[in-house]
Amino acid sequence: MTHKDQPSMIQKKVCILGAFGVGKSSLVSQFVHRKFSEKYLSTMGVKIERKEFSVNGRSINLMLWDIHGEEDYKQIPTTYLRGASGIIMVVDGTRRSSLEEGREILAGFQDELEGLPVVIMVNKYDLLDEWSFSSTEIQTLSEGGPPVYLTSAKTGVHVEEAFHKLAEELIRP
Ligand code: GDP
Ligand code: MG
Repeated sequence: MTHKDQPSMIQKKVCILGAFGVGKSSLVSQFVHRKFSEKYLSTMGVKIERKEFSVNGRSINLMLWDIHGEEDYKQIPTTYLRGASGIIMVVDGTRRSSLEEGREILAGFQDELEGLPVVIMVNKYDLLDEWSFSSTEIQTLSEGGPPVYLTSAKTGVHVEEAFHKLAEELIRP
């Protein structure tokens, strides 16, 4: 196959949004580097990582914008959201309030995020002893809304599936 025949690489910006400490940076690190650290390194502003992979036989290059989740998400400049093609919303499965906090963040950027595909990751699934959502609640959450994945940035469970799901939505013509 000559260079000319190669289907052009699709490049998309994805924003990772969610409350403080839910595991946004850890999920990106697990997906991009297959690494996990217990240490908490608070993200300042935004960190951009890239990952190239293929879904349904097509190459995609995701620019993952890992956006800090400070107590006051209104501090997030709207410019961070500009040009995004998809959203990952991260919830901490051990902290109920993080679902509402995540929803508030998305609602706060309604204009910027209008019509964009969203995938929800309910993270820290390895901490089942401290889990604060029932399976019925998870079921309800996924009905009629964005796809929901129970992930662990620590063990890696469902992390790739969740990112790939969003990528599938992004390559859809
Ligand atoms: P962020 O503020 O959303 O970027 O959160 P971080 O990715 O920095 O994670 C916050 C803390 O939760 C860190 O101490 C991580 O080690 C921990 N953490 C993140 N994801 C998981 C997970 O899936 N399981 C467990 N057990 N800890 C996690
Ligand atoms: Mg972070």
